[in-house]
Amino acid sequence: MEVLSSISAFLVAPVAIYLLQEWKNYPQRVRHHMEQELKAYTGGCHCNSVRFTLLAPRHLVVWNCNCSICFMKRNWHFIIPASQFSLVESSKDYLTEYRFNTKTAKHLFCKICGVQAYYVPRSNPDGIAVTLACIPVEQVSSSLSLSP
Ligand SMILES: [Zn+2]
Repeated sequence: MEVLSSISAFLVAPVAIYLLQEWKNYPQRVRHHMEQELKAYTGGCHCNSVRFTLLAPRHLVVWNCNCSICFMKRNWHFIIPASQFSLVESSKDYLTEYRFNTKTAKHLFCKICGVQAYYVPRSNPDGIAVTLACIPVEQVSSSLSLSP
C-alpha cells in the first residue's frame, strides 16, 4: 500500500507542476474565465452555416480590441480556452481565413455571410475569441463587463 501511494505521489507531482505551469501561461484575460463556474452557450454566424457550442462563465468579460482589424469590425469578444469551444463539424466547409502582419491570429469568417463569429487571437493562440454579438442575446446575462 505504501509502495502504491509513493508511486501515485511520484506520478501526481509532475502532473500538478505541469498544470500549474500551464495555468501561469494563460494570460490574465483567459484565467478570469477559467476561475468561474461555466455555463453552456451556443452561437454562430448570420446565415447559420458556422455554428458552435462553448462553455464560459455567466459573467462574461468582453474585450473591445483596438487592433487594426478588430477596430474596423467593432469586434467585441470574450476569450475562452480552445478546449471549451466546440465547432459543429459541417461548419468547417464554410469557414475561410485571413491572416496579416505576424500571421499569428487566425481571422476566421463565414464564406456565405461574411460574419466572423469567432477567431483565434494573437494574444492567445491556444484560445478562442468569441464575438459577443454572435451569441443570441437571450443567452447573455446582464452580468457583463467591458474591458478596454
Ligand atoms: Zn454565415
